[in-house]
Amino acid sequence: MIFTEVPRLALAHTPTPLWRNDRLDALIGTEVWVKRDDMTAGPEAGNKIRKLEYLLAQALAEKADTVITCGAAQSNHARATALCCAQLGLNTHLLLRSVNGDQEKITGNLFLDTLCGATIHWVTPTEYAERQQRMQQLSESLQSEGRRVCIIPEGGSSPRGSLGYVRAMQEVSQQLQTKQPCGNKPLPATFDAVVHACGSGGTAAGVAVGAARFSVARQLHTIAVCDDQRYFQTLVRSLTSGIRQLAHDLPSSIDVVVHDQFIGPGYGHASEEQMRFISQVAQATGLVLDPVYSGKALFGLAHGLAKHQLAGKRVLFIHTGGLPGLLS
Ligand SMILES: *Cc1c(COP(=O)(O)O)cnc(C)c1O
Repeated sequence: MIFTEVPRLALAHTPTPLWRNDRLDALIGTEVWVKRDDMTAGPEAGNKIRKLEYLLAQALAEKADTVITCGAAQSNHARATALCCAQLGLNTHLLLRSVNGDQEKITGNLFLDTLCGATIHWVTPTEYAERQQRMQQLSESLQSEGRRVCIIPEGGSSPRGSLGYVRAMQEVSQQLQTKQPCGNKPLPATFDAVVHACGSGGTAAGVAVGAARFSVARQLHTIAVCDDQRYFQTLVRSLTSGIRQLAHDLPSSIDVVVHDQFIGPGYGHASEEQMRFISQVAQATGLVLDPVYSGKALFGLAHGLAKHQLAGKRVLFIHTGGLPGLLS
C-alpha cells in the first residue's frame, strides 16, 4: 500500500495553527514555531487523535465494536481513545496502571474516561509490565461474550498509529507552502529541527519519516519523559521500519537525536525548576504546557538544546497537548 491509500478517519480539527511569540523566542533563546497540536480537537485534543485517525479506521474496517487500550492512570492516550470511541459508538476498555493496582482519584483524564463510559481495569506496575498479555486475555474474555475486539497498544504507537505524524508533517509542509504570514511573521521555507516530547515513540517515528518525505526539517530532537536514550533509539528505529512496510512509498527517516537528560524526578513528576518554567511561559505568553510531556520538552529546548546543538536555529516545537493532566 502507499501512504495516501492507508484508511483514515477524519477526527482531528486540522490544520492546527503554527504559532509564534516574540516573548517565547526570548525565553527560549532561539526562533521557535509552535505547532499547536494541543488544539487538534475539544476535550479529546492532543497528539493521540492523529494516531487514532488511523487506528480507529482499522478498528472499524475489522468491524470491531469494542476497543481495548492501556496507559498510566492519567493517560492522555486512554482519554483520547475513550472519547473518540464514544463518538464512533464503540465500547472502550482501559487497562490503567496505579501504584497499588487500586482505583486512583477520578480527576483530569480519568474523570473524562469515566464520564464517557469507559470500563476501567486497574493493574499494578508489575502487572502492567505484561500489558500485552493482559489486554489479550481481556480481549478473549470479551470475545467469549460475543464482542468484536480491537487492541490498540500503549500510546497508539504502532506503525499504523505513527502515520498520524507522517500526515502532520505533510500538513506543516502545506502550511509553509502557502507562505501566508503567521501573525506578523513570514513563514520560513523549512525548519532546522523539530523538537517534541517522547513517551511511547510513535510521534517521533512519524515525524522522523514525515519530515523526510515532506522536507520539513533536517533533524529531529525528541525529548524523553521516561526510559532512556538507547531504549528510544531502538524503539523509533523499529517503528520507522514498520511504517515503511505499511506504506512502502515512504522514505527512511531524518536524523533522530534522543535526549534523556530532561526527565527530572521521573515519569509524571516535574522538578521545581521545570514547574517554574511552565509558569514563566504561561505568564509571558499565555501558552499552557503540561508537566508530564510538553513542559519538559520545551524546558529541555530552553535549558539545553537552544544553548548548544540548536543555538541560532529555527525550531518547530510540537505542542502535543496534555492539559487534563495539568488539571488533575
Ligand atoms: C503521549 C503524549 C506524548 C508523547 O507521544 P508519544 O507518541 O507517546 O511518544 C507527548 N505529549 C503528550 C501530551 C502526550 O499525551
